[in-house]
Amino acid sequence: MITAEELVNQAINLGYDKCGIIPLDALSGYTEKLTKRILRFPETTGRYQKLFQLANPKESFPWAKAVVVCSFYYGKYRIPQNLQGYIARYYLTDSRKNTLTEGYQTSVDFERFLCSQGFQIAFDRDFGIVPLRWAAVEAGLGIFRKNNFFYTEKGSWQHIEAFLIDQPLVYQNTHSLRPCSNACTLCATACPTASLCAPYAMNRNTCISDLTTWSGWDLDKEPLNKMMGDWIYGCDACQDVCPYNKHAWTGEKESKSLEMIAPGISLIKLIEAEYSWLEQVLNPLLWYIPKNKCWRYKTNALNAMRNSWKPEYMPAVRRACQDEKAQVRRMARWVSNLVSQE
Ligand code: SF4
Ligand code: SF4
Repeated sequence: MITAEELVNQAINLGYDKCGIIPLDALSGYTEKLTKRILRFPETTGRYQKLFQLANPKESFPWAKAVVVCSFYYGKYRIPQNLQGYIARYYLTDSRKNTLTEGYQTSVDFERFLCSQGFQIAFDRDFGIVPLRWAAVEAGLGIFRKNNFFYTEKGSWQHIEAFLIDQPLVYQNTHSLRPCSNACTLCATACPTASLCAPYAMNRNTCISDLTTWSGWDLDKEPLNKMMGDWIYGCDACQDVCPYNKHAWTGEKESKSLEMIAPGISLIKLIEAEYSWLEQVLNPLLWYIPKNKCWRYKTNALNAMRNSWKPEYMPAVRRACQDEKAQVRRMARWVSNLVSQE
């Protein structure tokens, strides 16, 4: 059987930045963390309740003995200028379902490698089979910062994956990362919706990353719509201002899939996009919005237009008032009426 060190080395050879292996017990502290989060934000109880099972994978996988946790650095990719500040970088470089990406290939190769070594494994590429940031911190790959993101020496631009294995291997990493200074409030101050209302405390219900994807379906009625600014899918504000991210995005590498979709994206282009393009080209990349609700990209773009209004948007907004989807027509009329009154 392969040693823990050999396994970790292979993860890094295949493209991960860091890798560690922890016993399942190391996840147990997550229960307390989740409980505290729910007590702090009781309105989010329903959304967090299902996450408790992540702290105890033994219930679903009694054979599991350890968690292999890996981080993939996505700050290496060049983000086309026209996408910056509109779509969060995690989603632009999201490799979970994008088979064209290096991250996807690394993940598939490592999964195959583990199987080829005789491990029984369990893995959920989309959302993780354990609390991913928690596992990464426990494995010594990095730390939590006050904006809740997981950081390594390369900043917060890390995608984490974890695999349950049936062997009791352990590999603990060390790092020399310094914690946030007590005085720093840059991330909380930068949060447009005050979702990040205290160190290590974020209200998921008011976070723009949530309001542009899983929730916020009726943006014309959403109390925070104005505060959402230009964001149309996700938000990077609390990461962008962080001093520990200052030189963390190197952006030296081209991402083929990003270069492919970038020319099709601007606020005007989005609200005028063919639904077939949204479904076949954009949705596989920005997949939190269900394929049968691709009108959502348009209503998000209309909200962003309203928030930084330019007169040249008006012809496109008027055309959107005739869109084939009722949700888009309603949002476009709302924007058109509002800006006419302002
Ligand atoms: S992602 Fe945006 S909205 Fe969410 S906590 Fe960070 S700054 Fe606030
Ligand atoms: S902005 Fe300041 S407080 Fe927030 S995560 Fe970065 S260093 Fe920590």
